[in-house]
Amino acid sequence: LVVLENVNKHFGELHVLQDINLSVHRGEVVVLIGPSGSGKSTLCRTINRLETIDSGTISIDGQPLPAEGRGLARLRSDVGMVFQSFNLFAHKTVLQNVTLGPTKVRKTPKDAADKRALELLDRVGIANQAHKYPAQLSGGQQQRVAIARALAMDPKVIMFDEPTSALDPEMVQEVLDVMVNLAKDGMTMVVVTHEMGFARRAANRVVFMANGQIVEENTPDEFFGSPRTDRAKDFLSKIL
Ligand code: ATP
Ligand code: MG
Repeated sequence: LVVLENVNKHFGELHVLQDINLSVHRGEVVVLIGPSGSGKSTLCRTINRLETIDSGTISIDGQPLPAEGRGLARLRSDVGMVFQSFNLFAHKTVLQNVTLGPTKVRKTPKDAADKRALELLDRVGIANQAHKYPAQLSGGQQQRVAIARALAMDPKVIMFDEPTSALDPEMVQEVLDVMVNLAKDGMTMVVVTHEMGFARRAANRVVFMANGQIVEENTPDEFFGSPRTDRAKDFLSKIL
């Protein structure tokens, strides 16, 4: 579904993505882990062209990502994003946050967008908060709104970049539970996370990055149980 071939990117002198080859299949959950600065966020951002790449190709559902133009807007809306810092619109209600994309980008009529948004808010367990503003919600609730907002665009894949790292510990699980349910429902997901419990429960594959390269890819059991590279062993010894 998402295919990266020989993707390279530099920030000045820094070769932040080095010959990245990665395929994410439909319905697959890929957990992306690695040390700070290894390029995980940059990789996520290139997949919907929040970042440009220097060479290589990225395609989504067989369509190469164009550099710009209307095709880009459409392909970009196929890729949902959920960030560490929720990024909700503070001056809009929960419901408006979820309906904004569908009404503006997809031109969904307001009634239909509202109805669907309420279904999605119900799915993430916060339908009763629809008319509140983000500041009136807990961090975990805000992140669940962000997930509902991503789902509202019917994306083909959702990228999660450390979705629980900004949350108080007691709220981490409610967000992970929503993500596990999405995975069970067959959503294609790429998840940058340090939550190894989530990786074990929900990931089909773990991709380990270091210094801009994919160093190791394996099933969670194999990766955590018997990492092949010293780099991965070293990393796991620090986080587990
Ligand atoms: P973390 O676990 O800390 O989130 P990461 O694996 O997500 O790390 P990236 O955010 O992708 O890492 O950053 C990779 C490298 O690229 C880092 O060295 C970072 O300083 C650098 N970098 C990221 N964004 C930019 C930018 N816009 N301009 C210049 N350098 C950048
Ligand atoms: Mg990051």
